[in-house]
Amino acid sequence: MFADPVVIARDLLRCPSVTPAEGGALAFLEKTLKAAGFTVHRMRFSEPGADDVENLYARIGSAKPNLVFAGHTDVVPPGDEKTWKHPPFSAEIANGELYGRGAVDMKGGIACAIAAVLDYLAQNGGKPRGSLSFLITGDEEGIAVNGTPKLLKWTAERGEKFDHCILGEPSNQQALGDTIKVGRRGSLNGHLIVTGKQGHVAYPQRADNPIRGLVTLIAVLQAEPLDQGSAQFAPSHLEFTSVDVGNKTVNLIPGAARARFNIRFNDKHTLDSLKKLIEQRAAKAAGGKIRFAFEWEPSNAGVFVTKPGPFTELVANAVMEVTGRKPELSTTGGTSDARFITAYCPVVEFGLVGQTMHAVDERVPVADLHALTTIYRKIIDRYFA
Ligand SMILES: [Zn+2]
Repeated sequence: MFADPVVIARDLLRCPSVTPAEGGALAFLEKTLKAAGFTVHRMRFSEPGADDVENLYARIGSAKPNLVFAGHTDVVPPGDEKTWKHPPFSAEIANGELYGRGAVDMKGGIACAIAAVLDYLAQNGGKPRGSLSFLITGDEEGIAVNGTPKLLKWTAERGEKFDHCILGEPSNQQALGDTIKVGRRGSLNGHLIVTGKQGHVAYPQRADNPIRGLVTLIAVLQAEPLDQGSAQFAPSHLEFTSVDVGNKTVNLIPGAARARFNIRFNDKHTLDSLKKLIEQRAAKAAGGKIRFAFEWEPSNAGVFVTKPGPFTELVANAVMEVTGRKPELSTTGGTSDARFITAYCPVVEFGLVGQTMHAVDERVPVADLHALTTIYRKIIDRYFA
């Protein structure tokens, strides 16, 4: 290899880029990519009530197709640094493993993509046959307001087009090569509020207890499945997470009762269709006798799904040839920035093994960094072949 992913990963891990701090990580990428001939843009996005966040877009080549590597250089806080075997921003190597916050989620993945791209360019006269790009945000672990959504909008306004994207999140469960993510469920949080009439427990005929109505509606919403699953996804799931009345008085029928829930939903729904479905089911069960309302929390967590085809096959084959494992095309787990990218081009997630992400002693086997770089390198070769 022309460039060593371990050296790049260590440089990145030494940047204390806890969201929303840039920590020197994007400056390092800018310098590295510029030296390789990339045009690099750094942009800082703001929004009232949210932290300013730095982002980066880099591209080399102007021809189609444009293959994009996406990722984030921000990391979650390390917690109590004294509980780490090796300091979280020192990037020490012990027993063949590189330690540091972000080792797998996901500075390690970015380092492998950079190393693979630099190697490809070095062996191909410094120019790709199409275009190679990097979309890197500093706002993935935060609220993702000043990160990838705005970065994508910014590139679209400049007329940038993406053909396929690889997001280097730690997609693997146990071993490198076991999982490619081709989708993620959406997530929606809601509150159900039932209003009654407050009164004395000894005179229930003068009151209207909202807890009865709330219990009825909770039962109905839990009972009926939201769907039977889809070709690529398990059934959607609604889970109540809290039931709140807050009544400290023993002889008082409360005036209102609320419950909170979260729905993880598949590609049979959109955020809007799902809200409508839940409201309709509640209205039917209420039969005009229960006074209820829903409050929906703002969500930007829609579904992401990429259908199996030549691109997923190309990635899966590269993974198989390097690791000897046949990767599962999975749609499980929480949300990721792929939910934004999917509106612009097909995207798959493949990176390191996720076992230690967000944990104390986050680390990656040095061998995995070399193997992932070889996988990315193969993908680039085949993509432009
Ligand atoms: Zn991540």
